[in-house]
Amino acid sequence: MSLLINDGLVVKMHYTLKNADGETIDASTPEEPLAYLHGAGNIIPGLESALVGKVAGDKAEVTVAPEDAYGQPDPQMVQQAPLEAFQGVEKVEPGMAFQSQGPDGQPMMIMVTAVEDEMVTIDANHPLAGMTLTFSVEIVEVRDATEEEVAHGHVH
Ligand code: ZN
Repeated sequence: MSLLINDGLVVKMHYTLKNADGETIDASTPEEPLAYLHGAGNIIPGLESALVGKVAGDKAEVTVAPEDAYGQPDPQMVQQAPLEAFQGVEKVEPGMAFQSQGPDGQPMMIMVTAVEDEMVTIDANHPLAGMTLTFSVEIVEVRDATEEEVAHGHVH
């Protein structure tokens, strides 16, 4: 008997994530498959819904539009900050990432996209916002979640 992936089950899988140009942008390591609790929003909605009904051993390729992944970039999340706000950083350059605080105090990643005339343009959108993503997955294991995992909403 094989458990079919559904809400409340723990899924372990290997995955490779590619962008629309076919470049690999993320992947699980052979020793450490990704484990997530299905139905708890641990992974992006488009991938989660595509995995329903699969069993251990299944392989799948899933292409997810931005709307079902990290959404479209929000222009309001792109802002400018004076260079002097980056104290302690020797040279602020495009491509640098910093941890900042979101409106509710939650940690937020911001990326420097431009530096010009003592002003730094920062982008707090998710780095994968606006991207169509293709996942190649191989399901390694499907098991019942413990009560504690269900209560916490994540895998232990
Ligand atoms: Zn926990």
